[in-house]
Parts: sequence; C-alpha cells; structure tokens
Amino acid sequence: MIIVGTGCAGLTAAVYAARANLAPLVLEGCQPGGQLVTTTHVENFPGFPEGVDGPELIMNMKKQAERFGARFVYGVANGFEPADGHVRVKVDEEWVETQSLIVASGASARGLGLPREKELMGQHGLTTCATCDGAFYRNVPVCVVGGGDSACEEATFLTRFASKVYLIHRRDSLRASKIMADRALANPKVEPVWNAAPIEYVTDEAGKMRALKVRDTKTGEEREIEVKCVFLAIGHTPNTAVFQGKLDTDPEGYLLQRQGTQTNVPGVFAAGDVADHVYRQAITAAGQGCAAALDAERYLSQFEAH
Ligand code: NAP
Repeated sequence: MIIVGTGCAGLTAAVYAARANLAPLVLEGCQPGGQLVTTTHVENFPGFPEGVDGPELIMNMKKQAERFGARFVYGVANGFEPADGHVRVKVDEEWVETQSLIVASGASARGLGLPREKELMGQHGLTTCATCDGAFYRNVPVCVVGGGDSACEEATFLTRFASKVYLIHRRDSLRASKIMADRALANPKVEPVWNAAPIEYVTDEAGKMRALKVRDTKTGEEREIEVKCVFLAIGHTPNTAVFQGKLDTDPEGYLLQRQGTQTNVPGVFAAGDVADHVYRQAITAAGQGCAAALDAERYLSQFEAH
C-alpha cells in the first residue's frame, strides 16, 4: 500500500494500515505534515484539554505509525497510471507499483502572493484558518480577505473574539450565498471594505502583523487598515493535478468518493481535504484517513491466498 501525503488524513491512514500489518509506504509530499504544521496551537482536536501544538500532533502521529511499521520516504507523487489490477505511482523519478493507494494529498489554501507571505504565515499574524487561530486574537481588530462563503463564515465566527472584523473584498458585492452574506454584514462588529485589493502586509518592529495595506480598485488610493491578524479566505486548491483525467473530480478538482472513500479506480481511495471542501478539519481528515485504511484493507483482503 502507498499513502500519498502526511497530513492528518495520511498519517491516520498510516497508523491503521500499519497496525493491520500492511507496512504502508508513506510519501511525505511537498509539505510534510500538511496544513497543521503551519499553525501553532490546536485547541479543537479531541483528547487534548489544554490544546496541542500542530507540529507536535503531527510528529506524534508519525511516530505512532512508524511504531507499527509504516515506512516514510521524502518523495512526491508526480505520476499516476491505473493498470490492470494495480496502479503505478511515479515517486520523483521512479515508477512504483502498488495494489492499493490512499490519496491524502490535501488542499492548499490560496495565498495572495504578496511579499513575505510564507514568512508571516502561521505565527506572525497571517493565517488561512479562522477556526484554528481566531481565539488567539481577542479584543483586537482583525480582517478577513475574500468575498465568498468562507470569508463570510470566518468573519462572523471571528466576531466572537475580535473587537472588529474588516471584511476586505476586491469588488463591491459579495460572491457568498445571500444568507451567509446577510449574516456577516448584519453583525455590528463586521465592517466591509469594498473594492480593496491587498497590496502589502505591514509589520511592527517585532515582525508581527500591524496592518494590511490595500489599494482602492476604483480610485487607486492606498491606505493601511490596522489589524493584528489577516485571515485569508480566498479559496483552496486541492492537490490533485497529478490525478487529473484519471481519477474523477468535481469541477473544482476535489476527488470524488463513492461507497465510503473509494474513487472511480479500484484500489484507489481518497481521504481528507483532497476530497472534502466542506469540513476541512484536522479531526474530519483523520477520520477519513481511518476510513480509507479500513476500505483499503478490505479491498486487499480479496488478494490474500486462501
Ligand atoms: P470562493 O467561493 O471561491 O471565494 C473566494 C473569494 O476570494 C472570492 O470572493 C474571490 O473574489 C476572492 N479572491 C480570490 N482570489 C483573490 C485574490 N487574489 N485577491 C483577492 N480576493 C480574491 O471560495 P470559498 O469562499 O472558500 O468557497 C468555496 C466553496 O465552499 C464554495 O462553493 C462555497 O459555497 C463553499 N463553502 C460553503 C460554506 C457553507 O455553506 N457553510 C462555507 C464555506 C465554503 P471574487 O468574488 O472577486 O472572485
């Protein structure tokens, strides 16, 4: 068995598959540890009443999988071919054959592509996850960038903590569904900033976020909006490029599952954010990783000698 990805979904699949004596080969992928390694404290993963550091949680999952015989390699799946009764995966330069593949390659939150984005992400006042990081910004102004359902949902959620939430959108009308847009805009703590294109992250002497500089798309005027954290909600891109045309996806590229975690190719299963654009939580990804390993184990049992 090969597992692609080492976020919560891939690592949970690895724990279950390894405990079933399947000695899975786990590809670390281009972002080992997945999205949790870009956050600090995780307070909503059950079992940790005081919370747990994202990277620590991931390291523990990895150790747990290794303890039962999972093998980890630094490699990226950059080729995929369904064959008769098995699949071929290209790992860096080499093709490897497997009877069962779990795709847990995740989705990447989109960034704005502004200077210093990588450096600020996670710990210095720039994040892509309000559920993860909102509670760290109590009684301070923050902003959400985006105009879709995620932006509205996150802006509304953040009003529980922040003193003010600027909803910064590049146009003058939201893309979000009416109900989500109405809810966000009706909240007295939410202040929309229309026709505003972010152009710079402004930091203080300590290197933490101090403001977001935006340009008015109509007048060209530039201004700084003072915030302690910028929450980006400009969509996600599922990491499925290598499977395009071979595994069924929805129009946005998320893998389609049928009968649990099975994809359209027998022996290939999908788990976590690569197939889920609704929940996108560490715990739901872990749950899907478990389900994919159980589905794969059941699938492989048909090849056992009787
Ligand atoms: P989305 O609908 O694709 O919206 C992305 C938003 O980001 C758009 O408003 C877009 O602006 C803006 N944007 C994109 N690139 C940008 C850039 N470079 N600079 C500034 N703004 C940029 O993504 P989403 O909100 O994550 O939603 C994804 C899917 O999940 C949708 O189908 C949504 O309905 C669903 N969803 C549902 C719920 C729910 O029902 N509870 C919650 C969240 C998400 P433009 O509008 O100008 O293109």
